[in-house]
This record gives sequence, C-alpha cells and structure tokens, in this order.
Amino acid sequence: MPGLNSLSLERAEQLSSQWKGTNFLGGTAKNFIDGEFRESTTDKWIEILDPSTQTLLSRVPETTNEEFESAVEAASKAFQSWRKTSVLKRQRFALELQALIRQNMDNIANAIVLEQGKTFGDAQGDVLRGLQVVETACAIPTLLMGEKIEVSKDMDTETRKVPLGVCASIAPFNFPAMIPLWTIPMAIVTGNTLILKPSERDPGAALMIAELCQRAGLPNGVLNIVHGTVPTVNAICNHPKIKAISFVGGNRAGQHIYNLGTQNGKRVQANMGAKNHAVIMPDANKDQALNALLGAACGAAGQRCMAISVAVLVGTAQQFLPDLIERASKLKVSQGFEKGTDFGPVTTPAAKTRIEGLIASAKKEGGNILLDGRGIQVPEYPNGNFVGATIIEATTSMTCYKEEIFGPVLIVINTNTLDEAIALVNDNPYGNGSAIFTQSGPIARKFETEIEAGQIGINVPIPVPLPFFSWTGNKASGSQIIFCIIMTKVLQASFLGDINFYGKGGISFYTQTKTTTSLWRSDDANVAGEGVSLNMPTMK
Ligand code: NAD
Repeated sequence: MPGLNSLSLERAEQLSSQWKGTNFLGGTAKNFIDGEFRESTTDKWIEILDPSTQTLLSRVPETTNEEFESAVEAASKAFQSWRKTSVLKRQRFALELQALIRQNMDNIANAIVLEQGKTFGDAQGDVLRGLQVVETACAIPTLLMGEKIEVSKDMDTETRKVPLGVCASIAPFNFPAMIPLWTIPMAIVTGNTLILKPSERDPGAALMIAELCQRAGLPNGVLNIVHGTVPTVNAICNHPKIKAISFVGGNRAGQHIYNLGTQNGKRVQANMGAKNHAVIMPDANKDQALNALLGAACGAAGQRCMAISVAVLVGTAQQFLPDLIERASKLKVSQGFEKGTDFGPVTTPAAKTRIEGLIASAKKEGGNILLDGRGIQVPEYPNGNFVGATIIEATTSMTCYKEEIFGPVLIVINTNTLDEAIALVNDNPYGNGSAIFTQSGPIARKFETEIEAGQIGINVPIPVPLPFFSWTGNKASGSQIIFCIIMTKVLQASFLGDINFYGKGGISFYTQTKTTTSLWRSDDANVAGEGVSLNMPTMK
C-alpha cells in the first residue's frame, strides 16, 4: 500500500492482523451478530479513505434486510436471558470491559487516527471519555437501587427499574469510540440488549470495542453491530421489536429519527448539532483564555459538537484579537500520527469542500476573513483534506454564523457589554454549551444564571460533565418538540427528547419503573386469614 505513510502502514498492518471485525488494508468491516463477526452479503459498499492520502482503508457494508433481521432476532433472544442475569454479573461485565479498554486504548486510538484523522493524543481522549462511562456503569448495583416504604400496616410498595428490551444506538463519525461507549455500557448493565449502528465513515473503533465486550464475557446477541446509512437507520426506527433509540449526530438525521421513532412508539433521545459561544471579558486571564479558545475551536479540526465556534469579545477584550490571530496562524496542521501536529485533516473531501464554501460565504456576505485556512499546503500530504485555522469577523445574520461549520473556523463577534453578549448567545437556537472567560466572580455568576445553554463553562472551554453527571445539551426539549414535528425545515437545536445520555439520566432512559405492592399480614404468622373481603382497600 504505497499510499499510507510508514507510521500509518505499520499500525494498519498490526490492527488488521489482530482484530476480527475490521481491516485497514483495503478489506471489509464485518457485521457483529449473535457473537460472530460476519461478512455481509450486500452488494452496496461504502469506501473509507485515509483522510490524509485518500488511500482505501476498508469497505463498510450497507447491511442487508436479512442481516438486520437476524441482528434483531439475536438481540431479542439474548434479552430473554440477559434481563434475568444478576446485577452483579452485569457489573462484572462492566469491570472486565473497563480493564480491557484501558489495556487496548492505544490500539483503539490508532484505529481512530487512521479512519477519522484526528491526532493520536486526541484519539486517546476519545477513548478515555468513553471509558469513563464504562467506569460509571460499574456502579450499577447502586445506580439501580429502588425505593420501598410500608404504605399501610404490613403493606409495602417498592419500585424497581427494569430494562426496556432491545435498544438501538446510532452514532456519528466525530467520536468513533466515545459515543458508542455512551450507550453500550449503560444499555447493557441495565439489562437491555443493543443494536449499534456506528458511523459508516469510521466503524473500526466500535468493532474493536465489540470484540472487547466479547472478551469481557458478554453473552452472544447482547451487543450486535450493523452498518450502513439511511436504509439501516429507517429499519431501526420502524422495527417493532426495538423499544428505544439513542441518536447522536446532525440535525437533519436527528429530527428524522426522533419523528419516525416516536411515531412508532419508541423512546428516543437525540443529541444533535451545535454552535457554542465563548464570551471573553476584558478582565480574562488573556493567555489562558486565548489558548483555551484556540484549543476548543481548532482541536480535532473543529469536528466536535462542543467545539467553540463563536468568540464574543466584550468591550476592550477586542484588543486580544491580533494576538489570537497570531497564535492561530502558528497551529501545525498535519497527519494525526506526525509529532507536533495540533490538528489533522477533516474526515472527508466533502466536509472540506463544505467548510471552504462556508468560509467563502462570509466574504460574499460582508464578513472579514482575518485568517484564511483555505488552500493550506501540507507538503508531505498533498491529497489530504486539510483546512487551516480560520478566523472570521462576522455578524449574526451571516450564513457562517447561522450554520454549524464543523471545521477549524472561529467566528468572532464584538459586543460592548456583557448583557449584549448574553442576549446574543441566548438568541442562538442551539443550546449545547457556552463558556465565559473572566476573573470576576459576580460576572461568572450572572453568566451562569442567565445563559440558556445546557452546559456552562467558567474559564473552561469545553464544559462536558464527567459521566457520573449526564450530558445536558439543551433547547428543543419539552414543548419545542411539537414545534419540531410540525416543522418542514430542519430544526436548529441541540437536543430532542426528555431524558439525557449517561449518568442518572442514562439509567432512566434505559429502564422503566415498576412498582409492586405486597401484603403479608404479620398477624397471619399465628392465625388463619380473615376470609375474602369485597371492599375497596382503604388505609388502615
Ligand atoms: P450525521 O447526522 O451525518 O450522521 C449521524 C448518524 O446518522 C450516522 O450513523 C449516519 O449514518 C446517520 N444518518 C446520516 N444522515 C441520515 C439521514 N438523512 N437519515 C437517517 N440517518 C442518517 O452526523 P455526523 O456528520 O456523523 O456527525 C456530526 C454531527 O453530529 C454534528 O452536527 C455534531 O454537532 C453532531 N454531534 C452532536 C453531539 C452531541 O452530543 N450533541 C455529539 C457528537 C456529534
């Protein structure tokens, strides 16, 4: 394979020889059904190309209807026994899995760099953030505890959280390990079985995690992986045996899946797109704020749903701009295994074209491109999907502000006051996250209280809570869901549904509560019963 650089080739060969489900040397990704990695019989294949060289890494099947049905059958069958396993057995699985993921973190990270393009350090972070969900799931005996009180003499009511059945998870390309791990451990330790559809652009990490689940002792059929695009997603939304869907990805797909899934009576949680703002106050620690801003805007080439894509410079903080541009211009763009790389290519040529188009739109609409990453040359990788760091002074009416760019592009907007900045952030329809940089407690407190976004950072650029909390991106929940269903155009919002991912929310999403009310008369320990009573029970 002359196309891959030696760093990539060495890792591609090693992974391809050691893992059953995937291949990085031009082979195929397998379905994982009933405990077996099975070659698909499809005639529709999607090519995965190395984002730095366009070398063919692998081909992903559009899983056939028959294969999808057999995955659902395997999951339904496995549910009958898995739901009855003791909570300690399910905890043991989580404990084993966390140890195996830790041991194999670098292998999974290598697969992510190859397929997705992010740097190796960033890919390790992708695995680590998923691993933390597995670690949280290890506390399942405590997390599942119900409630019990005596409601009347000798009569108890108790609650228990029981699994839903076969669940499904549909993942995006930008965190190929973390997002499958948002759902795999939570669905499984709560006693469900799962069908996972990873992104068709980078399923390698998910297939390796499936192999680790098997090594951790997970019975056949509890986790199944299918592949593909819209047909597979629609099959998930329409299948009567699938009870719940977790979706993470863009707004078009999220809105469609939410609408179709809920119409079919399924529980759906959909984490979608974002436009996250950072407000920079004049009293901010300049060094810390600028570095944090650039890391959050350009890290992972801006392909993070919690990337900072808008900087709101308040008052004299506008004087930080020349320094911000200078620092951004020094960021090193190259292949993800290359030492010193700050960020790698975007994942596909189509993404590069789209990002460059949005930068061009800023110019047409009167924006000021202060640093232009289009056409960046990375001499060793002339065919890579590289976009350099870009900074654009814009207004809220411009397309580059309104659209999620998902590239290393920072929009800069100036306001005179904090109140104006807060109003601007709150006017934006997305609600994933927002950060402020300030040395003032009162300013931070005001921001925290008044900002609507669901995940707030105070001197923290990417305020994603650790998984013992839940992901709390918001907007478009509650009554806005009805609004979404009647909308014909794509909704701009970050979340549809009522119950969050992982943490306590994750336990609620994957369980339903049952109550049992029981009467064991203590008097009956000595005497015979009182006979039949036809009266409505009353409190005695
Ligand atoms: P995407 O919506 O293109 O794909 C996500 C999943 O949906 C994939 O598995 C894909 O096969 C499927 N899909 C795509 N189009 C579909 C359609 N029309 N109908 C049915 N299914 C479809 O998203 P992506 O490009 O893979 O990921 C990037 C997006 O994900 C960004 O918008 C980003 O903000 C978002 N994201 C959000 C979060 C969050 O927690 N809010 C986290 C990560 C990524």
